[in-house]
Amino acid sequence: MSVRTLLLVLGDQLDDGADALDALDPDRDAVWMAEVDEEITYVPCHKRRIAVFLASMRHFRDRLRGRGYAVHYHELGPDPDDDRGAGFAEVLAEDLARLDPDEVVVTLPGDHRVKESLERTVGELGLDLRIAGDRHFYCEPDAFARWLKGRKRILLEDFYRWMRKRHDILLDTDGKPVGGEWNYDSRNRESFGADGPGDLPHPPRFEPDEVTQGVLDLIEARWPDHPGRLGGFAEPVTPDQARDALDAFVKDRLPRFGTFQDALWKGEHELVHSRLSAVLNLKLLDPRDCVGAALEALQRGDAPLNAVEGFVRQILGWREYVRGLYWRFMPDYAEGNALECEDRDVPWFFWDGETDMACVADAMEGVLELGYAHHIQRLMVLGLFALLSGVQPYRFHLWHMALYIDAVDWVSLPNTLGMSQFGDGGVVGTKPYCASGKYIQRMGNLCGGCRYDPAASTGDDACPFTTLYWDFLMRNRETLEAVPRMGFQLKNVDRKGDDELAAIRKKAAEVLARVAAGERI
Ligand SMILES: Cc1cc2nc3c(=O)[nH]c(=O)nc-3n(C[C@H](O)[C@H](O)[C@H](O)COP(=O)(O)OP(=O)(O)OC[C@H]3O[C@@H](n4cnc5c(N)ncnc54)[C@H](O)[C@@H]3O)c2cc1C
Ligand code: SF4
Repeated sequence: MSVRTLLLVLGDQLDDGADALDALDPDRDAVWMAEVDEEITYVPCHKRRIAVFLASMRHFRDRLRGRGYAVHYHELGPDPDDDRGAGFAEVLAEDLARLDPDEVVVTLPGDHRVKESLERTVGELGLDLRIAGDRHFYCEPDAFARWLKGRKRILLEDFYRWMRKRHDILLDTDGKPVGGEWNYDSRNRESFGADGPGDLPHPPRFEPDEVTQGVLDLIEARWPDHPGRLGGFAEPVTPDQARDALDAFVKDRLPRFGTFQDALWKGEHELVHSRLSAVLNLKLLDPRDCVGAALEALQRGDAPLNAVEGFVRQILGWREYVRGLYWRFMPDYAEGNALECEDRDVPWFFWDGETDMACVADAMEGVLELGYAHHIQRLMVLGLFALLSGVQPYRFHLWHMALYIDAVDWVSLPNTLGMSQFGDGGVVGTKPYCASGKYIQRMGNLCGGCRYDPAASTGDDACPFTTLYWDFLMRNRETLEAVPRMGFQLKNVDRKGDDELAAIRKKAAEVLARVAAGERI
């Protein structure tokens, strides 16, 4: 019997309350899901990223079947030759011919490339692909486009205030922001000081059940050479586990989240961050539950305003903002290369963490172990190194897509190519996040245990960040002069003598040549 409506569900659309499920009649309609090799190998995905996606998908399939839906599900097997390199298009085309649906529906995919590929495949069979609404997000792309229309400047802060008013969040009865300020970021830049963070409560662990264990075994059999480690896998892969992870964060870490949001500390990869990005991006967790739980903690007096506002701004502000920009500016956005970087790839130690730079080695330890680094490690350590050394922005994005469990195109691209690498020329962030090793020194304890000196830009112990920082400013001077708020940093270059600048240039060329030659730095 042919199917009336076939609903395609992708790996980042595991929303039990999805709009698209509302109208589905279990007797006449069906759901289609597929594990496809291409999505795992087009960049060599971290084993933990594969595990989070496949385990969450298989649990979602089982929940839907438990609710009476017919689910056509493609499981990959352990044989690497089985479906090698196959993408959505091939797998779907075969099934469409077999199931012969009257209509095909999908929630807006998280990746422009996938959306185009699905539209093409479905179109070739003479069918339309209907895009269903998506109530997971607070702001759909058309609402974002309406907000953006006619604006002279594109600024997170403007969007964020609009969202606070639109959803009545953290507002007093007179419509003014709770506490009198819209943003408490100025209180959220503390480092831990000499005593360090103390005993930090870690996120809860979720031991693999039979379904998850099956996925872990599959990965070791089929993709044994992929980067990252699987041992000790205990990520949340169901909505119940995601909710437990949220509750634990609100209780244990939210109170200090704001103050220490920008801090770094050796060996502490999570610090007081929530580690909720993956379950949010796979839609196992509703962003409204995150915002609601934080607001309740504020009301109970369990978390201060600067922490709650900071957390709300990440979810209601940044997360929705980058998605809006992604859909407004794709596909051209992916081409952005405002600093005209050459075709340089990420350094080899971004794959194995083997470097003498203590801050990079530390961040990479978290990435390889957990498929995770917190925001400041992403932006002000790994992203900063890529920016200063002139990595091509899209290549940085592809690396990020491979190694992070929370990476989905709509959120990774604006953060990597835009915020971190300034490839968009100032759409997501207003200026490049460029700094020397002294910033990293100020924010934690990493430089103390490093063979380099963050204050030195030349000589044997010169910190590569500091050398490359000055070189970056010189190299990109013409472009940066047109960027507001870069004047102060550029003036500091002018304060240096010609001899010093020439020595920095020479040292920077040496560092970049060593990286290119695969020599340890
Ligand atoms: C170079 C770079 C790449 C990034 N790539 C991704 C990515 O692929 N996926 C991803 O979800 N986030 C990405 N981010 C944003 C942010 O770093 C992560 O969301 C955050 O580190 C995830 O950890 P957490 O859940 O502990 O976040 P927390 O610090 O606890 O923040 C809470 C939540 O706010 C949201 N959030 C915070 N900052 C951002 C942001 N800039 N953009 C969108 N959402 C945000 C996330 O959902 C996050 O879970 C990237 C940032 C940078 C600088
Ligand atoms: S000295 Fe430089 S390389 Fe070493 S930890 Fe500090 S910033 Fe990183």
